[in-house]
Amino acid sequence: MKAIRRFTVRTVLPEPLRGLEELILNLRWSWHHETLDLFRSVDPALWEFVGHDPVRLLGEVSADRLARLSGDRRFLRRLQDATEELNDYLTAPRWYQEYGAGLDAESGEAGPGAGAAPRAIAYFSPEYGITAALPQYSGGLGILAGDHLKTASDLGVPIIAVGLLYRHGYFSQSLSPDGWQLEHYPALDPNGLPLALLREDDGTPVRVTIGLPHGRDLHAQVWLARIGRVPQLLLDSDVEDNDASARDITDRLYGGGGDHRLLQEMLLGIGGVRAIRAYCEITGYPAPEVFHTNEGHAGFLGLERIRELAAEEGLGFDEALEAVRAGTVFTTHTPVPAGIDRFPRELVQRYFGGVNEEEDVPVERILELGAETYPEGDRTVFNMAVMGMRLAQRVNGVSELHGQVSREMFGGLWGGFDTSEVPIGSITNGVHAGTWVAREVIDLAAREVPAVVESGRGWDGVRRVPAGDIWRVRRLLRERLVHDARRRLRESWRRRGASEAEISWISEALDPDVLTIGFARRVPSYKRLTLMMRDPERLRELLLDPDRPVQIVIAGKAHPADEGGKRLIQEIVRFADGEDVRHRIVFLPDYDMALGRSLVQGCDVWMNNPLRPLEACGTSGMKAALNGGLNLSIRDGWWDEWYDGQNGWAIPSADGLAAPDRRDALEAAALYELIEDHVAVTFYDRDAAGLPRRWLEMVKHTIATLGPKVLATRMLRDYVEDYYVPAARSARAMASDEYTGARSLAAWKQKVLKAWPGVAVEHVESNGEDSPHVGARLSVRVMADLGGLDPSDVAVEAVYGRVDPSDALIDPSYLELGDGEPIDGGRIRYVGEVPLTRSGAFGYSVRVVPRNRLLAGRAEMGLIALPPAPHGMTNGNLR
Ligand SMILES: *Cc1c(COP(=O)(O)O)cnc(C)c1O
Repeated sequence: MKAIRRFTVRTVLPEPLRGLEELILNLRWSWHHETLDLFRSVDPALWEFVGHDPVRLLGEVSADRLARLSGDRRFLRRLQDATEELNDYLTAPRWYQEYGAGLDAESGEAGPGAGAAPRAIAYFSPEYGITAALPQYSGGLGILAGDHLKTASDLGVPIIAVGLLYRHGYFSQSLSPDGWQLEHYPALDPNGLPLALLREDDGTPVRVTIGLPHGRDLHAQVWLARIGRVPQLLLDSDVEDNDASARDITDRLYGGGGDHRLLQEMLLGIGGVRAIRAYCEITGYPAPEVFHTNEGHAGFLGLERIRELAAEEGLGFDEALEAVRAGTVFTTHTPVPAGIDRFPRELVQRYFGGVNEEEDVPVERILELGAETYPEGDRTVFNMAVMGMRLAQRVNGVSELHGQVSREMFGGLWGGFDTSEVPIGSITNGVHAGTWVAREVIDLAAREVPAVVESGRGWDGVRRVPAGDIWRVRRLLRERLVHDARRRLRESWRRRGASEAEISWISEALDPDVLTIGFARRVPSYKRLTLMMRDPERLRELLLDPDRPVQIVIAGKAHPADEGGKRLIQEIVRFADGEDVRHRIVFLPDYDMALGRSLVQGCDVWMNNPLRPLEACGTSGMKAALNGGLNLSIRDGWWDEWYDGQNGWAIPSADGLAAPDRRDALEAAALYELIEDHVAVTFYDRDAAGLPRRWLEMVKHTIATLGPKVLATRMLRDYVEDYYVPAARSARAMASDEYTGARSLAAWKQKVLKAWPGVAVEHVESNGEDSPHVGARLSVRVMADLGGLDPSDVAVEAVYGRVDPSDALIDPSYLELGDGEPIDGGRIRYVGEVPLTRSGAFGYSVRVVPRNRLLAGRAEMGLIALPPAPHGMTNGNLR
């Protein structure tokens, strides 16, 4: 008989062991080796059995064992050290406290962020990868969010995180006998996880409620996780006050479509803001000044903040919108249009209109925010990314290339501006060292280059680490991966129905001395899981080469609804099942953080072959690099930015080619050639001591140069300095003096929008282009009609520089022409001198754009007035 409900009965720990509970409830253990060691020593065999999950460990450890430990002085001393260390970690000032401090204790100088650093930042994400024991993530987006929080904790950045608690998380994967992906959704019991219910002072659980159509309400409770110093609030709709369908809203990550998805996002965005308010009220945590949304799913948070400001400060919709935008940062993560979250407009209309409409947040205004108003847009959809960009004054992509692709993709929202001026920046992702780097690597670094481990400086010292030491650690990690892979293979074959006799070969599968290539990813088509199988014979030769064999370890999950992805997995599995190659190529089911860690640590080469430029950043290759792995990748995402010819290999991309089949063929051929002629040759080229000298030079170079870049500490500092601090400044400028800034900016924008159709550059003249030479000046006179606007409302700029053969300006410079001089009929004359700073083809134009100190940039409003073509442009050939 099946139980109708399952729950977890918590162990009551003997008094001397209470500290264990404290340690477990803070997820810092997920990246703190000493704490994990302590857990292991509670019961080493059980620790392996429960898959390194400390909550399960305590649930299953025997009372006898606990009684023995309560009298074990050595264990108790270690426990006390660990809890004290955790307390120090949670309270001592860290980077952010110094950065934002009024005065630096040593130098007596103010930190660079003095007075400007936000008191708190709210971070919203639909998924978080913190540890394999909390399967609340599907892939890169969630892993990045987890690394962001852990790094915020390490640096002392006061982030408060918001997400949903999915009762069935993301699925776990196994294989059918014929290699088809099977999905399982094990039920999670929050009481069996390192979470606590958020409660009011009187002990009642906090309830967040949001209104639905037809007078229904959606209720949620809030679970509190602690990621080091970072509190994380997870909303959970599985409460008794909800009807059955509402209870299921937080059932699965990316499970349903349409309504279900919209309700999840309403709960995340609107409910998330309400959960934060409750948390701050109860704990005294400062109210966030900046709201950062990781992808568009949480975008409704902006609507809730508009509603709050209207209700509490009496602001109108447009005024509140300005205040909200100023303090919001939106990070876009996908250059794949199908990856963007869109809903039918009627659905949004139904959920935010009718009786559920908030008076201060009219549904018409909501629909405008998500409308695809650009020429190629679809008028019937509501686009969450587009809304995200309209609700945030600051937007970024996740690598330089992705920033550029995003500017092209969303440029239509900023009308007449060149792509390069579209206000979408970029911060390249990074990874959390504590989570991903093998302990042996950290120990070796601590011994040989302590500065890197202690302060993150002195990376060049890595080049002096003895090659033999590095090779020993690499061998050890490869061997560990081989053992882990064999264990997983055995388990997988048993589940596929094989007998013990049929799987005896697994004890010989993979070889700890063979060049090991890792390939693990989600399986959307752009990642091209099966590119390496393009020519199976060629692949077989590489695997079975008598002198320089390679072995490949593969993992990946296809989205449950993605039949095509499942077919790709099956194709790989069938190949890897072949008796001739199965000892050299394996597919390991259930790619999660634990398997990911094993792979990025143990593989010599990390392979990635996406369709450029569809990989926004990619982070698994960064994890491999930090462990001394070399990347073999298409130049996409982060690898496009940081590949330097010495730190791995670039697979040539045929991305200009329209025919996908031809493109795959070319790129696959290049891949085989690289592996055979370069990767394998370098790996097996050994000196007298048996060391691959050249390979190890590449490893050292990789760690020394990529190390400081790929770390999430670099990423988080960039977010703080380039986004959080400027956003907090803007938000304060809007809020000060009872929101005078927001009120005046909203009124000013209305005025400018209304007048803009009348703004025109009427006439442009210049002197000095008859005999131009470098160093000369071009004097420019512009006659502009400001359509009734005041000269202080606009900037009139000369735009100048190199031009391409079609007269387009390349990386132009901008010169603001001085104060205008009013002429008859409301026209204004502007004059200025453009310096001719370089020889060659040169051109200039002029433009009028709105100007206000409360705007984050010139392009913000998407308004621009250009001269009537073509006399605005003058070309000269400078010698
Ligand atoms: C790092 C990681 C990812 C993201 O890696 P990509 O390079 O973006 O594919 C996905 N899943 C797991 C389990 C990871 O560890």
